[in-house]
Amino acid sequence: MEQLRKEILLATNNEHKLKEYRQMLAPLGYIIECPKDLNVDSNPEEDGTTFKENAYIKAKAFIERVNRPVIADDSGLEVESLNGFPGIFSSRFAEKFSSYKEAQQALVKLAKESGSLKARFVCTICYLENINARPLFFEGECRGTLLEKPLGNNGFGYDPIFQCENGLCFGLASEEEKNKVSHRYNAIVKLATFLKIS
Ligand code: IMP
Repeated sequence: MEQLRKEILLATNNEHKLKEYRQMLAPLGYIIECPKDLNVDSNPEEDGTTFKENAYIKAKAFIERVNRPVIADDSGLEVESLNGFPGIFSSRFAEKFSSYKEAQQALVKLAKESGSLKARFVCTICYLENINARPLFFEGECRGTLLEKPLGNNGFGYDPIFQCENGLCFGLASEEEKNKVSHRYNAIVKLATFLKIS
């Protein structure tokens, strides 16, 4: 019987992401490797106009170099009153400031001026089985609101100014608490369901 190949490359060296994917996919028998593990590197320009396009750009950059399926994700924070901004620009918006703290405050100010603090985190995963395969996409979201003042230092990025609609403030939450409700978790659940049945 042909043996199922269970290694998957996750196209990121972000430790937070790696840990989350490993925690969720290891019980299904998957070994999640990162570019460093395979001595490959690629830093494609993320010039897509959607999370989906950027996730595909990242996955495609690696599928040509490794002999195993690749997953890549793209994520960000969308503020409703700012028509989804910063969205795919979440990381680039933060780079304009000298620290994430400043970026968080600036974003809250913009949202308040626009009349609503409603926001959601979004994560889109692209799965490429091989170089010729059709890309598959899995999307997760986490709805909530921005906090007027940052709370806590846990997590990364915009976590200290986000409160999930179940009441959890991401800046105060443990990894376990955040991973039960996060946008990435919700996307990984969909990917895991697909991997189980495929
Ligand atoms: P990327 O998916 O690695 O391109 O990251 C996009 C950016 O969105 C990050 O640099 C953060 O600014 C923000 N972001 C995505 N996910 C999270 C999260 O779980 N918490 C806080 N910020 C996040």
